[in-house]
Order: sequence, then C-alpha cells, then structure tokens
Amino acid sequence: MKNEFDILPLKDWLKLEGSPLIISGPCSAESREQVLSTARQLKKIPEVRIFRAGIWKPRTRPGSFEGVGEKGLKWLREVKEETGLLTTVEVANPKHVELALKNDVDILWVGARTVVNPFSLQELASVLQGVNIPVMVKNPVNPDIGLWAGAIERMALSGINKLVAIHRGFYFFNKTPFRNAPMWEIPIELKRRIPNLPIICDPSHICGKRELLKDVAQKALDLEMDGLMIESHINPDKALTDPQQQITPSELKTLLGSLVSRKPQGNIEFETKLEKLRSEIDKIDAELIGILSRRMGIIDEIGAYKSQNNITILQLKRWRQIVEDRLGAGLESGLEGDFLQKLLEIVHVESIRRQTEIYKQSNGRKNTNL
Ligand code: PEP
Ligand code: MN
Repeated sequence: MKNEFDILPLKDWLKLEGSPLIISGPCSAESREQVLSTARQLKKIPEVRIFRAGIWKPRTRPGSFEGVGEKGLKWLREVKEETGLLTTVEVANPKHVELALKNDVDILWVGARTVVNPFSLQELASVLQGVNIPVMVKNPVNPDIGLWAGAIERMALSGINKLVAIHRGFYFFNKTPFRNAPMWEIPIELKRRIPNLPIICDPSHICGKRELLKDVAQKALDLEMDGLMIESHINPDKALTDPQQQITPSELKTLLGSLVSRKPQGNIEFETKLEKLRSEIDKIDAELIGILSRRMGIIDEIGAYKSQNNITILQLKRWRQIVEDRLGAGLESGLEGDFLQKLLEIVHVESIRRQTEIYKQSNGRKNTNL
C-alpha cells in the first residue's frame, strides 16, 4: 500500500539547490548567551539552514533539567532576527504549540517520546489544523513503523503539507554501539510507504557519542536521506543535556566538510535490498550473542550444581552425544560439517573453562580431573 499524502518537496519551501538540509543547534537552550553564540558560529557554516534548540526537555527522571521554557523562545527570536536562520523547537502538547506560534518559531518538531502516544499526536494534529507551519516528526522510541507512519498521517490529515520525518534511531534490548539502534530498514520502509515524504537523519540521538557521528551521517547521505540534524553546543562537555553527543560548531564544519556526497547510482533498488539484508544480519548477530550468553549462563549453573555434588566437569558421553546430535541437525539445515565441528569445539572449550573457574571458586580443594 502506498500513501500519497499532499506533502510538499523540501525545495518548494526551502531553497536547497540539491544540497542536503542541515539543521543544527544545542540539544537544549540553556542561556541567552549560549543560544546566541552557538547560532552566530553556526551562521558561518553556509550549509546550516535551520537552528534547533530544545525549550521543553522530556527527561527520564524528575529533577533533571527540564528546559528553560518560554523565555528560550525569545532567544530564538533574536537568533532569527540577527542571523536569518530559521528556528525549530520540540513541541509535545497544545500549550507548547501555542507558545511557539506566538513567538514566531518557523518549524515545529515532535519528539520520539511523544510520537509513541497517538492521543498526544492527535491533540497536536488538532491544534495544528489550518496552521500553515512545517512539522517534523521523529520516529517513535520503539521500532514500530506503524506508529511513525500513523503520526505522519495524522499531521497530513490535519492539513500540514510541509512535513518531514526525522530518523533518530530506536530502542533495542540488546547492547549495540549506538544509543539508539539505527535499524535503517525502518526509514527505508517508511520511504517506500510514503514516497514523497522527505526524511532526514539525526545522527546525534542515534550515536549518543560524537565519535560515531561521521559514519552515521555519511550512511544517511548514502541512503539518499534529505538532510541531517546534528546537535551542536559552544561547550559540549558542559551541556546540561546530552553532553557526550554534542559537538562544537567548528567540529560540525569539519564533519560536514568530510562528508562525501555521492550521486545516486540509479540503482536504489539494489541498495535498498542490500540494506535490508544487512540489517537482518545485524539483528541475527545480536540475537546470536544473546543466545550464546544465555547458554553460558546455564553452563555456569550446571557447573555450580555439579561442583556441589562432587561430579567431574568433563562428561565425555554427554559431549559425544551433543556433537552427534548438533552435527546431524546442522547438516540437515544446510550447514557445513567442518564449520559445525569447529563451532561446537569452541563453544565446548569455553564451557569447560567457565566451569573450571566455578570449581576453583566454590570448591578449590577438590581435584577437577582436568
Ligand atoms: C532532542 O532532539 O533533543 C530530543 C529530545 O530528541 P528525541 O526526541 O529524538 O529523543
Ligand atoms: Mn538531545
């Protein structure tokens, strides 16, 4: 099913001339001085078109810095007047929308924690009915494409036609190098479902740390995303929110300068399919690691149990049985015998090593027969 909502291309409301849309600014507005000096430095980077700053911050725990509130909107107005940059803030409820509109904010964005809640989305969509303002919708925290597409649809149905999706990564239960797993297949699928929807990437919230930003930003461009939102701060280490992922405007300039803009190969289908397959592999590897770790946990339990009952670690009969059984099953599933044998061997050696450790700790006096 393809949805062709009435969504304007970016170039119809922003002069882009084929270059990606770059949005930058601090995670949070903290002071007038911080906001204005960041904006002044960003203004010197020609690619930066929009200045972002969080005014109301969604925080996991109460008592954390929750944003400066309405007074920050005055600082953004000053940014706009002085630099000519467009401004954008996160809105999570109708009151935020009202204040943002009253203070001439140019573009609104809906954050990942708000997009998970269709009630909140509908409240925002209703209050935006008939308002001619661009809206950017981040992906929901959880990897649910239906929620993301539904949020876009609600906005489109309320008449918003300057719509942009922001890919900021997803919560994933297994450990990954990222703060939020990119799961590139999800924005790709969103593009398939709503082909005329511009999608930009937010490498800051995907990465969670500055070292990873460049690769993720490059990958987003390689996947033909329409732009990037990257957090910047005059003194990132001192930032009140998200300090590890923010960079200085001058680091942003270097980063943007290092990105290669590739021409589309005319073979997006190939790239899309490859990306889907690779993300399958990423998921399977994560599962594989989870499974191995669970197996070792049980091995530890067996070790402790055997040690308490004075049983030797190595039980050859059981091991032979395992190899025979797993080899049979593996061969039947199309895996190669030699590979399976090696894999089982490695797992077995590690299982024995762990049990030996347990024996040493819990029952050092006894001979472990190894
Ligand atoms: C932000 O952009 O600062 C933010 C809070 O992002 P997200 O909603 O993606 O967590
Ligand atoms: Mn942030």
